[in-house]
Amino acid sequence: MPDCLPTLRVALPVPLPQLFDYLPPAGAACADPVGRRVKVPFGPRELIGVVVEPGTSTDAANLRPALAWVDPQPLLVGELARSLHWLSRYTHAPLGEVLATALPGPLRRGEPLPDTHAWAWQLSESGRTGAPGLRRGSRPARLADLLAAEAVDEDRLDTQMENWREAARNLARRGYAERIAIPPPRAAAELRAGPQLNEEQRAAVETITASGGFATFLLDGVTGSGKTEVYLQAIAHCLAQGRQALVLVPEIGLTPQTLGRFRARLGVPVHALHSGLSDGERARVWAAAWRGEARLVVGTRSAVFLPLPQAGLIVIDEEHDGSYKQQDGIRYHARDFALVRGKALDIPVILGSATPSLESLHNAQGGRYQHLRLSRRAGEAKPPRVRVLDVRKRPLQDGLSPEVLAGIDAALGRGEQVLVFKNRRGYAPVLLCHDCGWTAACHRCSTALHRTPMTVHAGGRRLQCHHCGARQPVPLACPDCASLALQPQGIGTERLEERLLAAFPEVAVVRIDRSTTQRRDALETQLARLGDAPGILVGTQILAKGHDLPKLTMVVVVGIDEGLFSADFRAREKLAQQLIQVAGRAGRAERPGEVWLQTHHPENPLLHTLVNGGYHAFAHGELQQREAAGFPPFAHLAMFRAEAKDVAAANQFLGEVGGLAASDGPVERYGPMPAPMPRRAGFQRAQLLLSSDQRAALHRLLDTMLPAIHALPQARRVRWSLDVDPMDLY
Ligand code: ADP
Ligand code: ZN
Ligand code: ZN
Repeated sequence: MPDCLPTLRVALPVPLPQLFDYLPPAGAACADPVGRRVKVPFGPRELIGVVVEPGTSTDAANLRPALAWVDPQPLLVGELARSLHWLSRYTHAPLGEVLATALPGPLRRGEPLPDTHAWAWQLSESGRTGAPGLRRGSRPARLADLLAAEAVDEDRLDTQMENWREAARNLARRGYAERIAIPPPRAAAELRAGPQLNEEQRAAVETITASGGFATFLLDGVTGSGKTEVYLQAIAHCLAQGRQALVLVPEIGLTPQTLGRFRARLGVPVHALHSGLSDGERARVWAAAWRGEARLVVGTRSAVFLPLPQAGLIVIDEEHDGSYKQQDGIRYHARDFALVRGKALDIPVILGSATPSLESLHNAQGGRYQHLRLSRRAGEAKPPRVRVLDVRKRPLQDGLSPEVLAGIDAALGRGEQVLVFKNRRGYAPVLLCHDCGWTAACHRCSTALHRTPMTVHAGGRRLQCHHCGARQPVPLACPDCASLALQPQGIGTERLEERLLAAFPEVAVVRIDRSTTQRRDALETQLARLGDAPGILVGTQILAKGHDLPKLTMVVVVGIDEGLFSADFRAREKLAQQLIQVAGRAGRAERPGEVWLQTHHPENPLLHTLVNGGYHAFAHGELQQREAAGFPPFAHLAMFRAEAKDVAAANQFLGEVGGLAASDGPVERYGPMPAPMPRRAGFQRAQLLLSSDQRAALHRLLDTMLPAIHALPQARRVRWSLDVDPMDLY
């Protein structure tokens, strides 16, 4: 018998389901290897992995030694490590890939845990003595003014100036300013006075702060009911106990205003984590959380992976928001994972929304969540009045009825602001040849049977595919019949903007959608253009929370009709949430709000229920329909998707996968079938859906299928993925 050698079992970021065994790095065995990153040889490459457990082997001849330790002490241990193991089992994704998703880029690449000094900027000697060459009023000059008296820390700069980092780099290049490390600020949390809570808010705060350990609270409050005030009190309670709080917000909700509100009221530094940060900044936030220095983190989806050694509370604002689900790579749902962590950490979790997901409402009804209702708007604000405008047979001007145009005119005349909401960006969704019926379709996303139209942009000069990003100029003549009668069909935000500019030339018309808000602070800049003056906002659902627009009294919703008839099982829920959320933008302050819904389907039951009964009446009916149809939350789904240049390869792979899923028993199998969008960016797409009313049975089946799937030769000929709890069936 050869000797038993100690080994390291390492999770590596490769799409293979197993752990990999290595000998410890030569001459560097260590007592507590678990949770440390280690650099290992992998084929011809070097990879960074995480040691998951110690092992032993008698087969030393076939084991390679790891190259080096990365961490001087374990990095991924305790609750976070255990929760990530759970996530790997739940998503059926390789642990190494899950760990790589959870770590910020620099840590993934093997860089050391960064230091977490706070940083401040100060003027250099030459910066103090005049800083020649700065144009007066330019950003660098304004920043130099801010720094004139004393060094200012980066947190404060965030609240004082947009885009200051660029200006700071500019000053540094010229030698006028420098970045200095300062000790991490010691936070004495103290809630600065806010409004006096009303009865419902107070009851909610008391229930939450009285909970000893893990509990889930569904804070279900109409828009403007003061949910954020409840969060603030609960967070203050958590901080006062010396614990860390994590607040998750949707991608579009994390605005400087949101951060400013937390900072101003809680009096602690707020660590923000979002996609606008550089890799290095993200790693520093991670390190600050790991060291327990970050007391309050406000972040988007991936912030759910932060280590919280002294956790006390997790808040998920707008818990229904689709951006919490990652749609590629490791397909996790940040809300659901936050609940798993809250349970493991034994702390309360608050899910807040004016339009809770049907999943969460179902859980509240079943008693698994405590349902806390805020039924009234806080302060003086009244709920908006809703009007359904039947526009059948009405003459529409670029999608706007004469009544709506007159209504906007009247609101502007009273000095108020108007929001025109249209869930479609671009100029028009389709370009049509009036003579032969040709429509512009994306050549990378269409098939003979399924044409994916290209959206008209840039005032009618450019075509763009919203699915694959392809762009091309609008042709001068129809490619089929050479006619010049090419006409944009349908309405997008650009076209609405054009019409409103023409109709109301004397006020500002500001368009807000993904095309105009690529940069993180663009939304602020755009809204600043509007100011307090009468004016019009045109936009998609990006116009969300985090902005109080007190002058906004009228919301016009145009063209929701497409959403009423979508085949997707979640489409009605999404539409209802969007309508309620956008309606909630109206009349947030003392002026009453009005919502005008323009539709060709005024009798549609969804609209009817929503307008007359509100969101909960809608949700009640919708849950019944989901139950009858066997959809989530009454069924649990897992979707296999495959893409290949050649549709046969995708089908063959999914055929094999389907063969592994016996079709009797508690799990039902649908497909393989073409995806609803059967081609995208040149790839043919197919899918296979598994569904069961027993979650455990579904996961047991997946557990047995996955190793076999990884071993399929066909698996290497396609791009495939497994999506547990898919948000939609596309
Ligand atoms: P939500 O998060 O539910 O949309 P917010 O917490 O943002 O609501 O509150 C909406 C507005 O009402 C804010 O301007 C807030 O300061 C104010 N507000 C909240 N609670 C109260 C209260 N109890 N009394 C007066 N004003 C309040
Ligand atoms: Zn034609
Ligand atoms: Zn395309």
